[in-house]
Amino acid sequence: GATIGILGGGQLGRMLSVAASRLGYRCHIYDPAANPPAGDVSARVTMAAWDDATALQAFAASVDVITFEFENIPTDTLDVLEALCPIRPDRRALAASQDRLTEKQFLRDLGLTTAPFAPFTDAASLEAAIKSIGTPAILKTRRMGYDGKGQVRLNTPDDAAAALADMAGAEAILEGLVPFSHEVSVIAARGLDGSVAAYDPGENLHDSGILRRTKVPANLTGSQRADAVLLAGRILNALEYVGVMGVELFVIPQGLVVNEIAPRVHNSGHWTQNGCTVDQFEQHIRAITGLPLGDGTRHTDVVMENLIGDDMDRVPALLATRDVAVQLYGKPDRRAGRKMGHANRIVGRGSSS
Ligand code: ATP
Ligand code: MG
Ligand code: MG
Repeated sequence: GATIGILGGGQLGRMLSVAASRLGYRCHIYDPAANPPAGDVSARVTMAAWDDATALQAFAASVDVITFEFENIPTDTLDVLEALCPIRPDRRALAASQDRLTEKQFLRDLGLTTAPFAPFTDAASLEAAIKSIGTPAILKTRRMGYDGKGQVRLNTPDDAAAALADMAGAEAILEGLVPFSHEVSVIAARGLDGSVAAYDPGENLHDSGILRRTKVPANLTGSQRADAVLLAGRILNALEYVGVMGVELFVIPQGLVVNEIAPRVHNSGHWTQNGCTVDQFEQHIRAITGLPLGDGTRHTDVVMENLIGDDMDRVPALLATRDVAVQLYGKPDRRAGRKMGHANRIVGRGSSS
């Protein structure tokens, strides 16, 4: 069978690799870190830096298609790989999502609603941004942020100086605080042939910027649900995207606001492992290898809970609970705020006794 190259060997790479092996593929992981979680379950691992051209060339020569589990792959790395092997999804998706400013401009140009936003570079331009956007607002680094890292809340304009100091000179944007009632996300896929399939939107609960829980179905009206799926389709088609994407949305009375897009499998899509015949990981592998997509139908309601840091103490009890499936990522050391695994609880169907 063919070999799939995966850039990044975290838990997403690990679950992609397992799904790929179920379809008869082998995976080759590339990650600068030693012993990445995906390494345990993959045929081959290369531990090398993102700027190691020799290692990158050997990696590209050993695989038939390259994908990735995180969006912050350096441009120079992509240049080396792209010359040797197809990367799916491609550059356009990375360009649209690596930088919060270009991401928001792309979404706005598509006619979608985003939070009000403005870039700034210094105290004067931040003051101007605050004047136009108002407070409360959030400063976010343009690049590399995840799990709410690189973000500072601004409650009043007086907080500006301290917030700017916190940004430590990183390029950033100011974003108006969206008074959402709740957050949802759509996990959608587009195949090599251009066909699109979406999963039911999930409702996401965050705690300190980290995803805590996702439940499906989300609390949405029928038209909101249709809007969510259609806008995800518009994003995928605009990028001629191939693979699975996560689209994070805020729900406000007027409709849906797009927060951010992730050009990869997404934490809020882990429920599909126990709620759908074809989960997001297999869906992504199918998309990038040119196989037909699963249709995304949900066969049960699910609540997915992330197991973060000391939540690991609850694993024995979770394993002993009916209708709960536990997935652990094999990370050796637990740390506060570190995602160690997740649990999918099946709800809303009669259980046999
Ligand atoms: P992820 O781990 O999802 O990539 P991230 O670090 O890229 O996270 P965001 O998704 O932008 O950060 O923000 C994290 C959370 O902070 C959001 O899910 C939401 O709860 C809150 N948040 C972010 N931006 C806004 C906003 N403009 N208005 C209100 N809440 C916001
Ligand atoms: Mg993000
Ligand atoms: Mg987010």
